Amino acid sequence: MPAALVCFEPTCRAQYPTSEVIYNCPKCGGLLEAAIDYDKEDAKLWKDRWRKRRLTNDPLDTSGVWRYREMLDLFGGGFENVVTLREGNTPLLSGPKAASYAGLDRLVFKHQGFNPTGSFKDNGMTCGVAQAVKLGMKRVACVSTGNTSASMAAYSSAAGLDPIIFIPNGNISFGKLSQALDYGAKTLQVEANFDQILALVRVLAERLGIYLLNSINPFRIEGQKSIVIEMMDQRDWKVPDWIVLPGGNLGNTSAFGKALRELFELGLIDRLPKLAVIQAAGASPFYDYIRQEDRSQFPTVEKPETLATAIKIGDPVSYPKALHEVLTTGGVVEKAAEQEIADAKAVIGACGIGSEPASAATLAGLKKLVAAGTVRPDEDVVAVLTGNVLKDPDYIYKYHTGHLDDPHGARLKSSFANQPIVVPNDADRIAALLG
Ligand SMILES: *Cc1c(COP(=O)(O)O)cnc(C)c1O
Ligand SMILES: [Zn+2]
Repeated sequence: MPAALVCFEPTCRAQYPTSEVIYNCPKCGGLLEAAIDYDKEDAKLWKDRWRKRRLTNDPLDTSGVWRYREMLDLFGGGFENVVTLREGNTPLLSGPKAASYAGLDRLVFKHQGFNPTGSFKDNGMTCGVAQAVKLGMKRVACVSTGNTSASMAAYSSAAGLDPIIFIPNGNISFGKLSQALDYGAKTLQVEANFDQILALVRVLAERLGIYLLNSINPFRIEGQKSIVIEMMDQRDWKVPDWIVLPGGNLGNTSAFGKALRELFELGLIDRLPKLAVIQAAGASPFYDYIRQEDRSQFPTVEKPETLATAIKIGDPVSYPKALHEVLTTGGVVEKAAEQEIADAKAVIGACGIGSEPASAATLAGLKKLVAAGTVRPDEDVVAVLTGNVLKDPDYIYKYHTGHLDDPHGARLKSSFANQPIVVPNDADRIAALLG
């Protein structure tokens, strides 16, 4: 049986062929999940095969996503539609200063900011775009001002498709939007809010045959599984105690959990690490939700507020999947304040490892989890940095010069400030200053 799309709702579980252009379950509106029919015997050979691929120059093998293609076999074996920009291949970096800041003996970062467009969205987008090509689509679209649009623009242009980006008027993040323009995306500013635009785009997609690459796209989630698979491969399949990641729309949480379940079922890992999802306090509905006794209502945040724009999400579409994955691993959800995120970001930076603000929520949350005794100091922890330091230089400059205000206009403390210093053109005085 080839791969299928299966409704995630336990009461429905309807199945559809991967050749159908659907985003939600047509029967019940539930989220869709790709189900791959794995060959468990063959899986015994994969670790070796994946390792050997690191030595070849085949473009698929040099991709840190497609190297693991046995676990992404959504197209019935044909990978000729794949466009790779050598995504993945992101490093594990040790951050001793960050470890002691959090109260841990050691801490390792898996840095997805090393991707071609600077965020983990590339791990998923290469897969989503491959599906668009497979379906014979000519145009693709998303609603985003962030890393999704930058990534979609790059991959679809590389595949010879026309990318269209819809953005809410007057709500623009220039670092990321300029990438989308550079990668050749047609960019439409609509005078409407995010939800209205999403409804509009769904109508247009149907009418004009445009393929949507929004964050519920199950093929993007499949591609993002590779982050965890590659992490385990790099660790010689030694499972950490915790994997910590920021949570916005919760697609990545869903992908990590699915990857771990599949690796475990295939016998490629011997236990599950716990997932710790960190949200920004001003956009933390999932933090509230998992604490609710009655989970029939999701506590959507009408006006999410955080400077960590990549996780400024009030109604995360993938929450049913993310809940399942966090509970399955025995994980936790924590939240971090703006001040905590800003300081954590500076501490990560001082390790020589830059990241964008949303990524730093991991360290901020970890510090709280260690203080609360949830994470023990001697535990083996991998924190995932999701985006590149250059995505949001404005934030960094303001923090280090003492001018960073929270979304309500209150000045944040710059406890780890590293100010540029104006000096006279005078060797003696500069020498005196440098000691
Ligand atoms: C998209 C994104 C996130 C949030 O990921 P979700 O899958 O939406 O939870 C976090 N950090 C960065 C840098 C991102 O681009
Ligand atoms: Zn359904």
